[in-house]
Amino acid sequence: MVDASSNPYRLPQTVVPRRYELRLEPDLETFTFAGTVKVDVEVLERADEIVLNAAELEIAGGDLNGVALAGIDYDDEHERAVLRLGEPVSPGPARLSLAFTGTLNDQLRGFYRSTFTDDDGDERVIATTQFESTNARRAFPCWDEPDLKATFEVTLVVPDDLMAVSSGAEIDSQLTGDGRRSVSFAPTMEMSTYLLAFIVGPLEATEPVDVNGTPLRVLHPVGKGHLTEFAMDAGAFCLDFFEDYFDIDYPGDKLDLVAIPDFAFGAMENMGCVTFREILLLIDPDSSTQQERQTAVDVIAHELAHMWFGNLVTMKWWNGIWLKEAFATFCEMLAVDAYRPDWKRWLAFGLSRAAAFDVDALAATRPIEYPVVSPADAEGMYDLLTYEKGAATVRMLEQFLGPDEFRDGVRHYLQRHSYANTETHDLWDALAESTGEPARDVMDSWIFQGGHPVVSAAAKDDGTISLSQERFRYDGESDDARWQVPVVAAVGTDTGECTERLVLEDPLALDADNPNWVMVNPTADGFYRVAYEGGLLDRLLEGGPDLDPLQRYVLVDDQWALTVADRLNVADYLAFAERLAATEDDLAVWRRLAGTLGTLDHMVPEVGRSGLQARVRDMVGPAWDQVGWEPAPGEDDRIGELRGVLARTRAVGGNDAEAIAGCRELMAAGGVDPALAAAAIAVVAVTGDEADYEEIRQRYETAPTPQLELRYLMALTTFDDPQIMGRTLAATLDGTVRSQDAGFVLRGCLENRDLGPQAWAHITEHWDEINQRLPSAIVPRMLGGISALSTPDLAAEVEAFLEAHPVPQGPLIIAQHLERQKINVELRRRIQEALR
Ligand SMILES: [Zn+2]
Repeated sequence: MVDASSNPYRLPQTVVPRRYELRLEPDLETFTFAGTVKVDVEVLERADEIVLNAAELEIAGGDLNGVALAGIDYDDEHERAVLRLGEPVSPGPARLSLAFTGTLNDQLRGFYRSTFTDDDGDERVIATTQFESTNARRAFPCWDEPDLKATFEVTLVVPDDLMAVSSGAEIDSQLTGDGRRSVSFAPTMEMSTYLLAFIVGPLEATEPVDVNGTPLRVLHPVGKGHLTEFAMDAGAFCLDFFEDYFDIDYPGDKLDLVAIPDFAFGAMENMGCVTFREILLLIDPDSSTQQERQTAVDVIAHELAHMWFGNLVTMKWWNGIWLKEAFATFCEMLAVDAYRPDWKRWLAFGLSRAAAFDVDALAATRPIEYPVVSPADAEGMYDLLTYEKGAATVRMLEQFLGPDEFRDGVRHYLQRHSYANTETHDLWDALAESTGEPARDVMDSWIFQGGHPVVSAAAKDDGTISLSQERFRYDGESDDARWQVPVVAAVGTDTGECTERLVLEDPLALDADNPNWVMVNPTADGFYRVAYEGGLLDRLLEGGPDLDPLQRYVLVDDQWALTVADRLNVADYLAFAERLAATEDDLAVWRRLAGTLGTLDHMVPEVGRSGLQARVRDMVGPAWDQVGWEPAPGEDDRIGELRGVLARTRAVGGNDAEAIAGCRELMAAGGVDPALAAAAIAVVAVTGDEADYEEIRQRYETAPTPQLELRYLMALTTFDDPQIMGRTLAATLDGTVRSQDAGFVLRGCLENRDLGPQAWAHITEHWDEINQRLPSAIVPRMLGGISALSTPDLAAEVEAFLEAHPVPQGPLIIAQHLERQKINVELRRRIQEALR
């Protein structure tokens, strides 16, 4: 996208790396490290200086081919060091040596420290790395750009009682005679700097299992080995699954999955040494919910897919991040669907797609791919549009081309570009070559323009049904944007049912005689909304076929989106929801319905609240009568989850006394079905008092698993008592809550039905402190909670504050939150009118 030679953030490619030998000596007591790096470089043009990346490092000195450097200049803005050479160097191979020192920071990036309390109550320190996008330069001087691939040979000198791992397998370990050990690791494959990892600390590892010749382990802080079995099983499955799907052997020599107590992101696909938040790797299958286990397998699958898609074949520059992330997210569904078909993963994907739609219906959306000049521009790419919308468009293409044809094209792409770097169109071209279909034409309209269409199906007077598209936006505005929409439509006529497949650009009439009904997007793979006009929705619901859960899900999701956009009124949405709820028994559909009922409850005027609660109780009633309080032995995981969703909706949205009492009893009793237990905690918190708060806070501090810890923590945000809210808010700053979690707690507090404004006031008062404490990427996400502050006064206040206190790491994300807040102000106004 950007011409490399004119981008001031690109390194000059006069001298490029081929092989790094890196030696590091971290000191876990003083939080510092010393290191040396020897780099075999290729001099491509005669040079009198070498420019590479370095940040927060002190380079003590060095030499090129044994000739000492004449000097070192730092360029802080571009995070570079300019090494002035003692004498000019001619083209050919050369060897650069540098010695340097740095700090084990607490910012969760570069080479950083993470702490935990062990079983004896002692605080322990882990030194670990997070390099993506551009933080390898904080650990060692390097050419920190994705297309400057090289091999890495790492040696770590560490205290003898600690474990050390890196991307390559351990090949040597020697005592150094001073209480330390020198541990060396095998050379990595040729890869980008952002994929290297090294970790030192009081860790333990499971026995390796052999997956087609690759040893796989889970590493974790000492004392947590009993929680590793689930991740081992999922990891082994996914590794085998992807070797088969991609038809290429795993490109590393071993695979460690490492649980880290403090982690800014969810997980990171470091080659051979994948790091995760503990909650995604340390799992007790008996006390975790299906949702929690599914999320863990999702992320394990996602990171393992990256070993090929991202690590073996890598984007040329950061504008290409979206493709590896979208593809890996798509792969989550593929692998999890194969791992646990009974979880119906593609159906659950509807919720992720809905979250992407929700951002993409704003004027302030963005194209999936956009030009990236500075690495900071790339930081804005780690969002719902990259992951969820990207994955949805990949799924749409896969279904359009056919799953086998698509997979063959992906294999072709990975084979051709192994160990190299690509642009986005290289994938479309490989798919086009292997399928003969114009993949690039279809995808360009989805990738390079923001937003998505609503496809309107309208019954005409002459009996035909026409389809047309326009841009869908919540604010009701539109523009001339058009997409190449791969449309699937099921049509019913007197003589039977047929499926039409077409690419919609301009309006057209469906090719069917006197259709009785039509269902557009019946497989839910299209990334577009559907609006039925001229009575077509009634015709579908009354005279149409039995709809499967995916189809019902899409209807709820689309009808709600049309409501938010003021194309459907609130009363009609509620009537539709009631009609569906009367017979609805599927988890995914109920999750979506419950989400919309929750929004209505959040915005309903006090005078109308009890009326809405009565309607919610009536809606939930029939499904609840089917599942009841008692899990049946050996029942489907999804039924258990449904029971949790229904219990919570009855109790919170429906204010049902029996449901609230039942949840209180369950929480007191403990040891129940995980989904019900999770619902019970949530219900007790929303309806709870000081004593309940104490109980939940104590359970949070002593939680035996990361899943329970997070459940209790998030429950603390929903109490309806200003005093209690004050304590929760304070806990995000005083060290009670880890900095990796504090932003999500603050977001939960902003979303508290009645006390959100108190949370906002706290955030504004402690703005600087919050920005210092939270990992920078989490601040924009925390502010997602402002969309719940949906009164005109609050909206004005928030906007003024954020104008005076910009968030440079996510200006577009902030603009989206502010717009969503305004949409909600309007939505609240309409809900208040409709439900008085
Ligand atoms: Zn990823």
